Amino acid sequence: MGIEGASLFIGVDLGGTKIASALVDADMRMIDRVRVATRPEEGPSAVIGRMLDTVQDLTLRNGCGVGEVRALGIGCPGPLDPKTGIVLDAPNLMWKDVSLAAPMAEATGRPVYLENDANVAALAENRLGAGRGARNMMYITVSTGIGSGLILGSKLYVGAAGSAGELGHVTMVADGPLCGCGNRGCLESLASGTAIARRARETAVRPGGEGILKAACGDINAIDASLVASAAAAGDAAAAAILRDAFEYLGIAVANVVNLLNLDMVVIGGGVARVGDVLFDTVRRLVKLRSFACLARDVLIVPASLGADAGALGAACYAAERLAREERDAGCDPSICHDLEGPE
Ligand SMILES: [Zn+2]
Repeated sequence: MGIEGASLFIGVDLGGTKIASALVDADMRMIDRVRVATRPEEGPSAVIGRMLDTVQDLTLRNGCGVGEVRALGIGCPGPLDPKTGIVLDAPNLMWKDVSLAAPMAEATGRPVYLENDANVAALAENRLGAGRGARNMMYITVSTGIGSGLILGSKLYVGAAGSAGELGHVTMVADGPLCGCGNRGCLESLASGTAIARRARETAVRPGGEGILKAACGDINAIDASLVASAAAAGDAAAAAILRDAFEYLGIAVANVVNLLNLDMVVIGGGVARVGDVLFDTVRRLVKLRSFACLARDVLIVPASLGADAGALGAACYAAERLAREERDAGCDPSICHDLEGPE
């Protein structure tokens, strides 16, 4: 493979069900990837141990040492503090105030940088994927929840404390469904895969919902977003209406962001986005309908292209960019220069 002496980075995508890690070269080309189960019920130190195992696997089987890895990046569900490397609250990991970057840095002897998973995925799609060349871009992932990240002026925009880009939790309906965050009527409570499945289960037991129930072989618990998408594709009107409503809410949210930020591009990924045209056509239609014509004309709305690798690749990109920035700032007091707002 000839990677000896190369400039290597490792990105780790820590999710509630899996840890996906990638070894990349200085140009962010994937050399190798590893996936293992997270098993969060075993607690933070077991999970951190498994993350370290993936790092060791990646280096050992590619004939390099951890010492040849210049830096590691971790993408993790937030809220978290990128400056201290502490995960503040990650319900699907059952973590509160867990120090993550420090033990990883101690065990590897390498710099470790932590950032929100949707933010690093946004960075990956912008630097390497469907959003290449876009200076002002929003990445949205629609799966069980809705996450997003913003690239503004070609930089990852993280806001005052690192938590910017929570499109999933903008309020769409004042008295809408209760959201996991405690608010009502969030976009996530109306347009995520979980929301689509919930509406379909409610519809299935009402007149008109027979087609959905039949598609689930009569088992209400078997109804998920992909079943709704298949039923809609097979011509079921109730399923099609559920998808249309969800994607119209998504389109309204995107139209709001387009009016606010005059984006060049919106990149949409995640499991639900795999339904394809029905989502993208609806979002494009709503943006045209609800944004200023000149702003709607400027924005391309496209599918994400990196799939399940976006998180790990983005974490590696983030590490490389933070390290480059710290090296540029070298010479000044690191305790002051550590005050980063995100990579350039
Ligand atoms: Zn919410």
